[in-house]
Amino acid sequence: MKKKIVSVMLCAAMATTVLAGCGSSNTASTDAAAEETAEDVEAEATKEEAEDAEAAEEATDAAEVTTVEPGVLTMGTNATFPPYEYKDGDDVVGIDAEIAQALADKLGLQLEIVDMDFDSLVASVQSGKIDMSLAGMTVTEERKQNVDFTDSYATGVQVIIVKEDSDIASADDLEGKLIGVQQGTTGHLYCADDFGEDNVIPYANGATAVQALLQGKVDCVVIDQEPAKAFVEANEGLKILETAYTTEDYAAAVSKDNPALTAALNSALQELKDDGTIQGILDKYIKAE
Ligand code: GLN
Repeated sequence: MKKKIVSVMLCAAMATTVLAGCGSSNTASTDAAAEETAEDVEAEATKEEAEDAEAAEEATDAAEVTTVEPGVLTMGTNATFPPYEYKDGDDVVGIDAEIAQALADKLGLQLEIVDMDFDSLVASVQSGKIDMSLAGMTVTEERKQNVDFTDSYATGVQVIIVKEDSDIASADDLEGKLIGVQQGTTGHLYCADDFGEDNVIPYANGATAVQALLQGKVDCVVIDQEPAKAFVEANEGLKILETAYTTEDYAAAVSKDNPALTAALNSALQELKDDGTIQGILDKYIKAE
């Protein structure tokens, strides 16, 4: 916002200078009414200049960034990840949807949300099908080879869900167990690394992995904490282990070919952090324990 305020003030100062210059040719006149009118004109002109400058600046913000569809910010997500993204009727709602709307508003763009498999998001950003993914997506070195990430807007924690009567008490007990995960997520990648690909069963989404746990097809599910809480709340007989598996950063993924968009999103994100919008959205969906 700093840039905008400075340029508005600059214009206002310029307008004053120009008008003062004009006014000086009138200094011979001692007519109080004329002076008042001149002041009014000056004030009005200054206000208009300031408004024009503001509008021009906003237009520049939007014009500076190129998006897949002009004037639209297309966000890809996987709406099976409450409270970050889930369906309410036909609408995708949740933390990421609200943050994306706030970002789009800042950039003067319309928001469009495309729901797809989590595993397709990075490729869709790369191929230019979507402008960004906002999907509770963790920043990883591997993903960074293929996409750029914005600054982080939230912290994620990988947790372990088990049946209430399970003998699994911590990550140390996962050796040799069947672990259900959501395909292509960090839970999937870390568990495959730590416990071997053969012990990990990938599912299309977290809800399906949790169903598999309920049916005894897997011994546990490793998934992000907030959706884990939602799944445990919605199903009888499950619990989340006290000890977390890992802690991570969530960020939006943007094409490496569009650094201007990443920069614009980062400055919008910073403004939304500074004015408390991001925290407000997080607090609305994630209740303190
Ligand atoms: N945070 C995890 C990841 O980035 C899971 C995200 C998700 O399933 N939406 O892999």
